[in-house]
Amino acid sequence: MTRTVDFSQYSSIKIGPTVEVRLIEKPEPPRAGEFIIGGANNLLVSDTPPPLAMLSKKFDYIRLEGKYLYIGGATKSGRIFSFVKKHNIKNFEYLGKLPGTLGGLVFMNAGMKADEIFNHLVKIKTSGGYIPKEEIGYGYRFTDIDDIIYEAVFEVEEGFDAQKLALFTRMRANQPKDPSPGSAFKNPPGDYAGRLIDAVGMKGYRIGDAAFSEIHANFLVNLGKATFDDALSLLEEARKRVLERFGVQLEYEVRII
Ligand SMILES: Cc1cc2nc3c(=O)[nH]c(=O)nc-3n(C[C@H](O)[C@H](O)[C@H](O)COP(=O)(O)OP(=O)(O)OC[C@H]3O[C@@H](n4cnc5c(N)ncnc54)[C@H](O)[C@@H]3O)c2cc1C
Repeated sequence: MTRTVDFSQYSSIKIGPTVEVRLIEKPEPPRAGEFIIGGANNLLVSDTPPPLAMLSKKFDYIRLEGKYLYIGGATKSGRIFSFVKKHNIKNFEYLGKLPGTLGGLVFMNAGMKADEIFNHLVKIKTSGGYIPKEEIGYGYRFTDIDDIIYEAVFEVEEGFDAQKLALFTRMRANQPKDPSPGSAFKNPPGDYAGRLIDAVGMKGYRIGDAAFSEIHANFLVNLGKATFDDALSLLEEARKRVLERFGVQLEYEVRII
């Protein structure tokens, strides 16, 4: 089974071709050369991507069993947020403001401020069975997971924190509204990618319709009909300038395929 995906609609940056994406119906090992997509909120897809696959709706579920939350890999952050709010569970408030599917969130160790998806993770389910958090390498927007994430299990604490949600809502109010994959680059240790991009004169800089936002320099935005080449040229120009001026090699947060 496949699903026709138009990345100029489906992806958060609204760039990319229309391709057939293979639907995964039951746990199986990753296929060589195939790239797994989630909600494409962190992807920049070229006109010639590798073969793609995504989890089917069978992996869209969330259930509470005792002290643990079981969430399927295709479940959207919005659904997880509604569930934890309804059940008065804390530590997932940021998911109300962070787009993605559970698989993408875990693979990226996504989060806001000090709240990251790995903080309360217990184990993930891959094609080979459950892997405990202790056996996974992870850090800031990084994991060494090399399998497909079919499910993740989290420990549950009571007490949904409305103040925290208000903080994340305020943070988002200062971010661009244009189509975007969020941050283009990871923050280098001890610094901010946005500061470096600003310092090399590229805040608001535009190639074609791709730009670094005027509001937040590290946000890659599509101001209209940006192409993959516009976006990639812009990103590469920033990396070149930052390397020349500061000797810092900016690392991509957005995944380019
Ligand atoms: C407006 C905006 C703001 C954002 N702000 C933040 C932020 O504050 N903090 C933050 O961390 N991120 C942020 N992001 C990025 C994005 O929300 C996260 O990276 C999110 O985790 C992406 O999830 P996704 O399902 O869309 O994954 P995709 O973009 O589809 O994929 C991302 C990566 O995850 C892998 N992946 C996806 N599903 C699976 C799976 N089932 N098994 C294995 N690997 C998988 C893909 O192969 C890819 O490498 C923002 C994005 C937008 C659009």
